[in-house]
Amino acid sequence: MTTQKKYDAIIVGAGLAGIACALRLNKKGLRVLVLEKNDKPGGKLSELHSQGFRWDQGPSLLTEPENINELFELYGKNPSDYFEFVKHSESCRYFFNDNSRITLSSNLQNTKEEIKEAISADEAENYESYISNSKKNYENLGALFLNDSIPSLLKFLHPKFIKHYPFLLSRTMFRSLNSHNASKFESDKMQLIFNRFGTYNGSNPYQMSGLYSMIPNLELNDGTYFPKNGMRSIIDGLYKLALEENIEFSFEVLVEVKRELSEYTYRIDDNISGSSKLVICAIDPISFYDYVLKDPPLSIKYKKEERSTSGLVFYWGIDTKIPELGLHNILFSKDYQEEFNTIFKEQKNSLEPTVYIHISSLLNPNDAAENGQNLFVMINTSSIDTTDDVYMEKMKQYIIDKIQEQFKIDIRNHIVTENYWDKASIESLTGSYQGALYGAASNKFDSALKRHPNKIKKYDNLYFCGGAVHPGGGIPLVLRSAKIVANLIT
Ligand SMILES: Cc1cc2nc3c(=O)[nH]c(=O)nc-3n(C[C@H](O)[C@H](O)[C@H](O)COP(=O)(O)OP(=O)(O)OC[C@H]3O[C@@H](n4cnc5c(N)ncnc54)[C@H](O)[C@@H]3O)c2cc1C
Repeated sequence: MTTQKKYDAIIVGAGLAGIACALRLNKKGLRVLVLEKNDKPGGKLSELHSQGFRWDQGPSLLTEPENINELFELYGKNPSDYFEFVKHSESCRYFFNDNSRITLSSNLQNTKEEIKEAISADEAENYESYISNSKKNYENLGALFLNDSIPSLLKFLHPKFIKHYPFLLSRTMFRSLNSHNASKFESDKMQLIFNRFGTYNGSNPYQMSGLYSMIPNLELNDGTYFPKNGMRSIIDGLYKLALEENIEFSFEVLVEVKRELSEYTYRIDDNISGSSKLVICAIDPISFYDYVLKDPPLSIKYKKEERSTSGLVFYWGIDTKIPELGLHNILFSKDYQEEFNTIFKEQKNSLEPTVYIHISSLLNPNDAAENGQNLFVMINTSSIDTTDDVYMEKMKQYIIDKIQEQFKIDIRNHIVTENYWDKASIESLTGSYQGALYGAASNKFDSALKRHPNKIKKYDNLYFCGGAVHPGGGIPLVLRSAKIVANLIT
């Protein structure tokens, strides 16, 4: 029997973007169907379980949780009935190669004391001025780019843009994030810490614009948050709400979409097909052009854009504890600039990368077996190079050695369970082209204006949201993209 159904909108992809967009469109009275290739929702916000340990597979750092709450409030629900989070007292612990360390947080006085002690009183003052500017730029300029579709030339003549010309045309915009940071801090360590924020969108701090010095505002002024039941609970809560609101989902389907006269027709197989006025792509647009819409010229056009970094993540369950580590930790590489040159210029995986370690069991003891810890260990990799077994083994040894150098503990014989996620498996699980974590890289001064837009000229009633399109990757921006699309549709 053939099922033929008519919807106002079909959404391709049930990751965070797809679910958020479905909730917003349903609220506007549209009949929505979400189509997902995996057997469950969530995409990068998936989780892993093994031998009494649990890991969030992708994102580990939550900022701006109010964007999530907004979706529950839209339906008059109390967010904490669906998803609970707490503000965390630290932002991140940074470990340097000389074995020194600094912990930053959104508590200004504590952080200034920490910097004064570890570096100097002058750098503590420089820090205050840096994050104050970061906040100003995020609120003023960020708001213009982040809450609306990519501004057109005409919009740049609007008075609300004109008042930002002095900043837009300042040196900050045209010099690299690294040069900007070098002009604000004397110490290499402070420069390194603020260069690291370039990885928030998977870009090269030595190339991307100083404009991105607004990113630290999220962690260091607003603060970082921790969902009590892990990052996965964001999806569980939103999906529960979507089902309560009778939004329809179809899993394990591969859909093809065609534009026909004033409608789109979609076809899943010989038995399931239908039509819809609107289509929303909530996956990487390149996958969408290749497999869903089948428009090779558009795919070729966007494949020319340099991709952001991919990642190699080890999920280690250990039967011991590393006391010096907090919820979020960075162990810097010996040569940060060389690391990014290798990834972006040589298009190779670095052999001496910076290591990020997240341990959710510190706040949620259920995530680890007794007396153990669940280590989420991630390095940035190239989205061009491959992570073969040899590289993977080398990195495993490198990370274990780095942990031993810093903390004088050899975890080699303490790893009781191991999983990994790399460029190829990120691409196959989520459809992200070349396993890039954030779509295109933001390495040019005008990257923010050149990102894949939320709507393209060639197709009416086709919209794009998610981490690979405007305004960017990461949970806060993905949620904003869903809101921008819902507003464009109205
Ligand atoms: C390792 C890692 C660490 C990260 N760390 C952070 C962090 O700490 N903080 C942060 O804010 N962000 C982080 N991010 C980024 C963040 O996870 C993403 O920006 C966000 O989850 C993207 O959501 P999305 O819905 O756009 O895409 P996805 O989560 O990729 O969802 C896309 C969905 O579409 C489905 N799909 C793909 N192709 C098709 C198709 N043809 N048909 C049907 N369905 C399809 C996929 O199966 C998937 O379910 C991280 C990402 C990774 C991978």
